[in-house]
Amino acid sequence: MKHTCNDALKHLVDYLEGELDPEASQELESHLTACPPCVRFLDTYKTTGKVCRKALEREMPDEMKQSLRAFLRDKLADNS
Ligand SMILES: [Zn+2]
Repeated sequence: MKHTCNDALKHLVDYLEGELDPEASQELESHLTACPPCVRFLDTYKTTGKVCRKALEREMPDEMKQSLRAFLRDKLADNS
């Protein structure tokens, strides 16, 4: 198992922001195909993230990304 849920979450924000490099994106996508909980989570994030991203436009401070990652980790921990 090369890609864990933790790894996936680490990359998820960058992936959704289009900042993840192609190789890492591919690994994340292959994890998502084998991990329904992460897919559900991604859907939730996309839906809720829309509002956030609208407010943030293209600017997302590193601090915001950090707390978003922490939020995502907590959320996944709840689901598992
Ligand atoms: Zn997963």
